[in-house]
Amino acid sequence: MRDYDAIVVGAGPAGSVCAARLAGSGRRVLLLEKSRFPRDKVCGDCLNPSVWPILDRLGLGARLRALPHVAVSEVSYHGIAGRPLIFPIAAGAEIVVKRRDLDALLVQRAVELGAEFRDNIAVTRLTPGWTVEANGERIGAPLLFAADGRNSTVARFAGRLPVSKRERTAIQCHCPRPSWHGNAVRMLFYREGYGGTAPVSAEEMNLCLVARPGDLARVRQRAEREFGIGGATEWRTIAPLARRDARDIAGDNLFLLGDAARVVEPFTGEGIYYAMRSGELAADAVAGGADSEAAYRRAHREMYRGRLWVNRVARLAGLHPRVTSMALRTFRIWPAPLGALTAKVVGQT
Ligand SMILES: Cc1cc2nc3c(=O)[nH]c(=O)nc-3n(C[C@H](O)[C@H](O)[C@H](O)COP(=O)(O)OP(=O)(O)OC[C@H]3O[C@@H](n4cnc5c(N)ncnc54)[C@H](O)[C@@H]3O)c2cc1C
Repeated sequence: MRDYDAIVVGAGPAGSVCAARLAGSGRRVLLLEKSRFPRDKVCGDCLNPSVWPILDRLGLGARLRALPHVAVSEVSYHGIAGRPLIFPIAAGAEIVVKRRDLDALLVQRAVELGAEFRDNIAVTRLTPGWTVEANGERIGAPLLFAADGRNSTVARFAGRLPVSKRERTAIQCHCPRPSWHGNAVRMLFYREGYGGTAPVSAEEMNLCLVARPGDLARVRQRAEREFGIGGATEWRTIAPLARRDARDIAGDNLFLLGDAARVVEPFTGEGIYYAMRSGELAADAVAGGADSEAAYRRAHREMYRGRLWVNRVARLAGLHPRVTSMALRTFRIWPAPLGALTAKVVGQT
């Protein structure tokens, strides 16, 4: 069955960028999404500066900056006790924009470039070749792109999703922003877990919390007290927080993108960049013709070269918040290493 040249499953940043690039190069593309758009998502809403070249290549730089957003002016680290450590960052480097707005804009661009978008339709079955089943309908295409996130249904059906160990859980909400918050991204360490806040407007902020399932209620109570959050707030949940990499990110004309291929620690604020860039790399590998799978695997490896140590540091810091809090005391005396790490992740424009 060949209804389209390519089916992309999942309209997060990876799927929409991939669909946009494929459609832009003349392919007939179907982008399938299980949620009704626009939708919110468990995410810190922080856009790493590395995304700008990708957005510019899509012709979206100015349109993104026209969305409601806040430019981050500093990153601060708050240990269990003591004064915070504050690092100013370059103006306009990192911005905070709600995922419902960002993801809707990326989908809109994919549609403008010729992709067909269908939301509220979940892929529930897969037959090699490829035929996907969604809401009882069977749809076929020779190329399939799995961009359906960290719990990728497509990767699981294809036998490529590793079984995840018991891991931490994340919760997220948008809530009123206290007047003292400022335009800072705050990294918060509690005894039982960690979290972060980011301003999404003058009145509202994003709050994410991460802990082992048994500790999450305690961390949430601490944050609710600290930021004066009321009981009516709507929290979203996602798990697992971390996962081993998918087994084979390209094979049999199936390409795994974004979180479906590899999940990074949210603390780094780089997940959206990796998602978008992998969508771009996969589409370009296919456009390149022969041996597109090997080309994508190579480009995907290259994308992470020299960057994954940041993820390891972030993971360790998040797994051991008490030790991290002690380390923050040392950084008060000698802040240069933490300042350099912060600048590496969010500083460059
Ligand atoms: C707590 C937390 C905070 C984070 N904060 C940041 C941050 O501030 N900055 C940053 O850069 N990254 C952050 N990340 C990481 C970032 O959210 C992800 O890396 C990014 O969303 C991955 O994009 P994606 O397109 O691969 O997948 P997703 O954004 O997860 O999109 C997948 C899409 O697929 C859809 N889908 C799923 N299953 C199906 C199906 N069966 N059929 C059809 N559609 C389906 C989903 O509805 C979803 O829309 C954070 C992550 C967490 C957990």
